[in-house]
Amino acid sequence: MSAQILDGKAIAADIREQVKQHVEARTAKGLRAPGLAVVLVGDNPASEVYVRNKRNACAQVGFHSELIELSGDTTQAQLLTLVDELNARDDIDGILVQLPLPDQIDEDTVTERILPTKDVDGFHPYNIGRLTLRMPLLRPCTPRGVMTMLERTGMDLVGKDAVIIGQSNIVGRPMMLELLMARCTPMVCHSKTRDLADKVRQADIVVAAVGVPRFVQGDWIKPGAIVIDVGINRLDDGKLCGDVDYAACAENAAWITPVPGGVGPMTVATLLENTLQAAELHAAG
Ligand code: NAP
Repeated sequence: MSAQILDGKAIAADIREQVKQHVEARTAKGLRAPGLAVVLVGDNPASEVYVRNKRNACAQVGFHSELIELSGDTTQAQLLTLVDELNARDDIDGILVQLPLPDQIDEDTVTERILPTKDVDGFHPYNIGRLTLRMPLLRPCTPRGVMTMLERTGMDLVGKDAVIIGQSNIVGRPMMLELLMARCTPMVCHSKTRDLADKVRQADIVVAAVGVPRFVQGDWIKPGAIVIDVGINRLDDGKLCGDVDYAACAENAAWITPVPGGVGPMTVATLLENTLQAAELHAAG
């Protein structure tokens, strides 16, 4: 078997087009364009690339976006004051504080300071709690983007066994909640999981979010499984690679996501969906 490619770039382009049309419909009705504030603290080259991609995507769909760059020695109190100001602004619907933050700033404290209705990353405990209780509001972008990709396979997800490798707050755990809400049976694995390969062999859906290049082996994949590779790893030669041994896993899988061009573009497109959703929440009061 040779897997079909789940083309994140193409699906993300569809989503961006849909968001753009919504923005045009809003402005035609006299409503302002959705506004996103992106806060970047310090000079982390990877964060700078992510922020640039997100702002370019905002510009393409007609959002108003603002970049607020703060120096690496910004205090937590200064950052919290900025978040309070952005929370209070009527023209800002979404606030994104790019992680990681410098050591002197506690990320959880900052995340919790963002108004849940402006938390377009979906990381606030309120939004995670709502997802846990099956009444989602703003959902974490990467897992929500993965769900959009899974829906695009056209396969019935109900009752499917899913294995997620990685239990981070931003990918693995909310991924479990998304899959559970879709009536899959998810299992979350991590570095202390025993017999990982055997667990993956049982899975109809495999989501790899490990941060280790080509970690998932071809002979771990059940024939006909869907393989979602969240990993983004920079190799010594500068090339990007995922957490899945793509060529070997594609031999067994029915569907597989490439890296680059898979989950990465979906995360950015989902941020746009979340920002539009936040703008609609604000318009509704
Ligand atoms: P993370 O916080 O570092 O979490 C990695 C997870 O992998 C942890 O739960 C860890 O287990 C587990 N793990 C590590 N080694 C393992 C092993 N040998 N066996 C089983 N589990 C193991 O990473 P993350 O933030 O979730 O990101 C994961 C990857 O996705 C990274 O490559 C990141 O760059 C990428 N990413 C991509 C996007 C996107 O838009 N495509 C978005 C976010 C992240 P323990 O908890 O036990 O340590």
